[in-house]
Amino acid sequence: MPRIACYPGTFDPITNGHIDIITRCAKLYDSIIVGVAQNDKKNPLFSFAERMQLTEQVLGAMPNVKVHGFGELTIEFARKHSAQVILRGLRAVSDFDFEFQLAAMNRKMATDVETVFIPASATDAYISSSLVREIAALNGDVSEFVPQVVATALYNKLRGG
Ligand code: ADP
Repeated sequence: MPRIACYPGTFDPITNGHIDIITRCAKLYDSIIVGVAQNDKKNPLFSFAERMQLTEQVLGAMPNVKVHGFGELTIEFARKHSAQVILRGLRAVSDFDFEFQLAAMNRKMATDVETVFIPASATDAYISSSLVREIAALNGDVSEFVPQVVATALYNKLRGG
């Protein structure tokens, strides 16, 4: 049976932190299904279509990584793609409470899907999509935190391009 993991998130936008988790996990699993959340209460800067497009562009060269949008429960998304695992990245203790609760709730709803936490690399632990958006909005340089295509998309979006 192929080992399949899904990696759900908002990806508003995808950052080097996300890419690090995906690259490391692509070596552990036969395939990674990246799930871009469609309906987001977070009021994203980028539309669903834009988040999908950027995520696909950035991950397109990775042979065992696929990108799909999803609007259903994460456990349903996992089942739909035959994933046994939901991957989540942990940056700091501040991520832990919510992630632990989420994992427990998902496990309550679906005992056939396991959550696996991956610690952020020391070099990426401070990167978050929200900080990247904020820095870009204030004309800061985000090129160290996101791929060039994402930096350009941020610039265009925030300058109304
Ligand atoms: P969500 O809205 O589901 O939290 P995000 O796109 O913000 O979506 O994050 C998706 C996943 O990636 C989460 O598990 C988050 O903790 C993880 N993540 C985000 N940034 C980093 C980073 N710099 N290093 C490691 N994991 C990260």
